[in-house]
Amino acid sequence: MPIEQSIGGKPAPAKPSERPLLRSLWRGFRLRCPNCGEGAMFGAYLKVNNACPHCGEELHHHRADDAPPYFTILIVGHLIVAGVMMVEDYFHPDYWVHILMWFPLTIGLSLWLLPRIKGALVGLQWALRMHGFAGPDAFDPANPPPDPGAG
Ligand SMILES: [Zn+2]
Repeated sequence: MPIEQSIGGKPAPAKPSERPLLRSLWRGFRLRCPNCGEGAMFGAYLKVNNACPHCGEELHHHRADDAPPYFTILIVGHLIVAGVMMVEDYFHPDYWVHILMWFPLTIGLSLWLLPRIKGALVGLQWALRMHGFAGPDAFDPANPPPDPGAG
């Protein structure tokens, strides 16, 4: 007996809207709203808009905290250190060449990557319905509804 019939023939409840993980990550990385992919996620360099200017999806629920700089340092550090070691190994340039090359590259790559990683993390939280991204009726353990019996 199919499971639909075992609950009295009622139609299955409507599925919540789809939130594909990779699409949400990619849209966030492109600094776009994870819901529509059109509206800008950021109102300033790292300031996430309260809501998408295109579709109105609420974005203020994000809690990226210190994860974006953590991943930025992790990625940029591995790229730059590997680059320094390879260039030193193959070309043996003077130290001033290293300084002129790697300082601007480190700073530039970090500044370019930081908002993109933050956007991807906001997209991840949105796709996984973390924090308030699940909607007003979902239970959020970090912000439980008031207990009517208390007080
Ligand atoms: Zn949007």
